[in-house]
Amino acid sequence: MRTVPGRTDHVVVVGAGLSGLAAALHLLGDGREVTVIERDPHPGGRAGRLDLDGFRIDTGPTVLTMPELLDEALGRVGESVHDLLDLVPLAPAYRANFADGSTIDVHTDADAMAEEVRRAAGPREAQGYLRLRAWLSELYRLQMHRFIDANFDSPLGLLSPELARLAAMGGFGRLAPAIGRFLSDERLCRIFSFQALYAGVPPQRALAAYAVIAYMDTVAGVYFPRGGMRALGEAMAGAAEKAGARIRYGAAVRRLERRGDRVTAAITADGERVPCDAVVLTPDLPMSYRLLGRTPWRPVPLRFSPSAVVLHAGTDRTWEGLEHHTISFGGAWRRTFTEITRDGRLMSDPSLLITRPTHTDPGLAPDGRHLFYVLAPCPNLRTGRLDWDDVGPRYRDELVATLERRGLSGFGSAVVTERLVTPGDWSRQGHAFGTPFATAHTFSQTGPFRPRNLVSGVANAVLAGCGTTPGVGLPTVLVSGKLAAARVTGAPAAHARSL
Ligand SMILES: Cc1cc2nc3c(=O)[nH]c(=O)nc-3n(C[C@H](O)[C@H](O)[C@H](O)COP(=O)(O)OP(=O)(O)OC[C@H]3O[C@@H](n4cnc5c(N)ncnc54)[C@H](O)[C@@H]3O)c2cc1C
Repeated sequence: MRTVPGRTDHVVVVGAGLSGLAAALHLLGDGREVTVIERDPHPGGRAGRLDLDGFRIDTGPTVLTMPELLDEALGRVGESVHDLLDLVPLAPAYRANFADGSTIDVHTDADAMAEEVRRAAGPREAQGYLRLRAWLSELYRLQMHRFIDANFDSPLGLLSPELARLAAMGGFGRLAPAIGRFLSDERLCRIFSFQALYAGVPPQRALAAYAVIAYMDTVAGVYFPRGGMRALGEAMAGAAEKAGARIRYGAAVRRLERRGDRVTAAITADGERVPCDAVVLTPDLPMSYRLLGRTPWRPVPLRFSPSAVVLHAGTDRTWEGLEHHTISFGGAWRRTFTEITRDGRLMSDPSLLITRPTHTDPGLAPDGRHLFYVLAPCPNLRTGRLDWDDVGPRYRDELVATLERRGLSGFGSAVVTERLVTPGDWSRQGHAFGTPFATAHTFSQTGPFRPRNLVSGVANAVLAGCGTTPGVGLPTVLVSGKLAAARVTGAPAAHARSL
């Protein structure tokens, strides 16, 4: 594995999102002195927060999987998830509501889920589910340590018996047909393939290998930290500071000082100079390249993931039939992906993720109030050149009308406070093409073909975060922080154990 040459005693980490904090914890664990510089006044980055009229709102991720990766990072400084966080396993992980009025709960327990599949779709599908579960588990086992939690210096590094096994399992085919080998009920196929959108690619086009995301939430399980997702960044930042890291909040890095091929200091917007022996950069990829003064050449331009509109609503009532996470599927499916990834249009028959965090932690809202987070996938600003200042308010009304039609009657009049976040807002926060989901996981942007965490021509800079390897999502950015730290220290990768 290529590592940063020369001195690496003091490392500056730019960004206190989850990748930056993971990098900091792993670096501290390897005895490095660490300074984290974060432009926001608090940790978390895209795992963001909004305090509105007594509602404690999570603005980013809501589906937490693979907490053992968090535990591994905390463990590097002698802390643990168990001591710092109160994680509630969600049962069911999701509820799926369909346009025909049927409902399927997604349980991570094998027997409970087989029973639910039998109830909803019959014994043959239940058998298919159990075979799919075994396939997903094997896919995860093969990929995690060999391909996801690994630094590559060249695509040749992929060549291994595991690669042959992954190919034999159909990992390089397409996701939708791969799931279809096990299940024929269209509703179940959706439940085990919609996760491709997390990777920014429709299930019909995503690599079957991305079924590993379905493993993470439908087999390994979904958790929610009491206190909200902000508790994750707070726990990591607190543990890093306790272990000696300095974290500067409210300080944006404006440029990097260079001597020859090395970065010698980070310079903040108010002119502070923070010297370093090495730097880990976690901002959005285009911003990191700008700070480094170089964008690596690629044969084809990077493709960015679709974006999302999120409606945050505090309400004075709730509705029967909702779980912590409820996916409200529209009747349309393929068309939905075509609209948002190819045509640049809003979904005409939307599929929505409705999260109700107060289901698990009522303390996130004032007494008697409830919190809703409604996520609607939409085109990014490159695919769909919509004027969100104009479209946003109308789309908000459309979403409310859709929720009311799908059983949340009177939703609009129950709202006591709200905030709409659109691609226009993501863009103003500096996310390229108005998407917070970074570059899509197409084949040519996957594994060793994804933008690398080393940048040629700069000897002591390493990238971490969702734009580089292994990719988007909390589990993967925690891994990316660890991989970046390993590039700095040369430490062999240790692997997370199940909690
Ligand atoms: C709406 C939404 C829903 C999501 N849902 C899920 C989900 O349910 N499950 C899941 O696993 N993932 C989800 N994700 C994805 C996941 O949140 C991200 O992939 C992950 O949080 C990104 O972490 P990061 O460290 O790469 O980037 P960031 O969190 O963006 O961290 C980068 C940090 O760098 C800081 N920064 C940027 N520029 C500078 C600068 N010049 N100087 C100093 N600091 C700077 C930023 O303020 C930020 O704190 C979701 C994301 C969003 C936005």
